[in-house]
Amino acid sequence: MTAPLSEELIARFSAIVGETHAFQAEADIARYLVEGRGLYHGKTPLVLKPGSTQEVSDILKLASETKTPIVPVSGGTGLVGGQVPRDTGTDIVVSLERMNRVRDIDPVANVIAVDGGCILQDVQAAAEKIDRLFPLSLGSEGSCRVAGNLATNAGGTAVLAYGNMRHLCLGLEVVLPTGEVWDGMRRLKKDNTGYDLRDLFIGAEGTLGIITGAVLRLFPRPLGHQVGLAGLASSEDALKLFELASRLCGTALTGFELMARVGMEFTVKHTPGARDPLEGTHNWYVLVDISSSDSAETAERMMQAVLEKAFEDGLIEDATIAASEAQAKAIWHMRESMSDAQKPEGGSIKHDVSVPVSSIPAFMKEADAAVLDMVPGARICAFGHMGDGNIHYNISQPVGADKQAFLDLWHEMNHRVHAIVMSYGGSISAEHGIGQLKRDELAAIRSDIEMDLMRRVKRSFDPANIMNPGKVVIP
Ligand SMILES: Cc1cc2nc3c(=O)[nH]c(=O)nc-3n(C[C@H](O)[C@H](O)[C@H](O)COP(=O)(O)OP(=O)(O)OC[C@H]3O[C@@H](n4cnc5c(N)ncnc54)[C@H](O)[C@@H]3O)c2cc1C
Repeated sequence: MTAPLSEELIARFSAIVGETHAFQAEADIARYLVEGRGLYHGKTPLVLKPGSTQEVSDILKLASETKTPIVPVSGGTGLVGGQVPRDTGTDIVVSLERMNRVRDIDPVANVIAVDGGCILQDVQAAAEKIDRLFPLSLGSEGSCRVAGNLATNAGGTAVLAYGNMRHLCLGLEVVLPTGEVWDGMRRLKKDNTGYDLRDLFIGAEGTLGIITGAVLRLFPRPLGHQVGLAGLASSEDALKLFELASRLCGTALTGFELMARVGMEFTVKHTPGARDPLEGTHNWYVLVDISSSDSAETAERMMQAVLEKAFEDGLIEDATIAASEAQAKAIWHMRESMSDAQKPEGGSIKHDVSVPVSSIPAFMKEADAAVLDMVPGARICAFGHMGDGNIHYNISQPVGADKQAFLDLWHEMNHRVHAIVMSYGGSISAEHGIGQLKRDELAAIRSDIEMDLMRRVKRSFDPANIMNPGKVVIP
């Protein structure tokens, strides 16, 4: 449907949630029309905030009957434009922010059942209250919501030990484009009963249905936690350090984050209270995070063993170990500030990519050469979840360059870097998804059979193409 919504249809949709939860005024809807990086600006005639699964179902029934496009939004922190309506002005935004209840929590089965609109931080806090851990942790955890985390299959800082959102989810409740409700709120670790519907909705970015509830896995809270930061000469040494830390710590290695010097410089310069964490400067930094289910002493012993052996083998130039949880948080804060710290340095072209871990140094060498050939003086601010093979390979403009002229190179640079990623058997979206940003590129790099299967899935769930149209895949 491309015609604007009639007043009569707007009134019918609004009546489902009640006038007080239906919004049309510019001041009320403005924040749903943009995304954090300012890459996308959309339009909508109406933002609806349903309060129950039944209301979501009624909205989708009417949408299906009238072929009205629907864009689901949770926390609005997505980085690929998936939650932003198109600029056609025809898409209704459905926000889950009122559906934010913890439904129940079971410390024996180690599960929590929540509404899709629960804020991630609230899920973490509910788990902590009963001495359990919900391990998904992202820089946006104070605003992003469970359904958005599921729809993007979010990763974050502890994937190495606990997996991404797909691994943390046991069951789902989803409203289909027809308005039918699929109750898949199962609590089973073992369930081999045919096609896994849950896995289809996870990572679908709202193109197959609206996630309204989820059953998530909890874990015992670790008894010991240690964070160390090492300075290194090369990314090859970082890879050797990863091999060493994995061998000595096994599943206790919870995080292994790589940061280039230039990112550390930006962070120290632009983050209030930040200072260089080590004496002298180093080409690379690695944050090592170790959690022990046994004791604080075990975590401490493991960290010391890793760093001592790494010094002995000449892998690291300097290192520090956080002496308290506050210091550990401060080290993590530096890592998490790395994205924001690029903003004052002008334009930044992003790549959220993954390659097999052992290929990271070779991938970066090749990509660095391609980027510098294209833009001499570009500042390569690579950082990320090295232990998961995931690098945020971000390129800041040369000092003094024209910001817009640099940003105009976004697609060409993505194209060159992604070609290198693919030559290493990697992925052009490790954790942020496809949305609008990478939709056309996905179609260009995936095989015909893969794209055809994805289109067939989309068409069979959503034949009228009303669920988040224009995102991920064009049916
Ligand atoms: C500072 C910062 C740090 C970040 N760090 C990370 C990180 O480390 N790892 C990572 O993976 N991501 C990260 N992100 C990206 C983002 O936070 C995640 O993608 C997050 O999972 C999105 O959740 P959200 O609730 O904000 O979703 P939204 O932005 O609201 O939506 C994201 C997508 O999900 C769809 N969607 C929303 N709600 C529903 C629903 N109920 N049913 C079906 N589909 C729905 C939307 O249509 C959209 O396509 C970061 C973002 C920021 C701003």
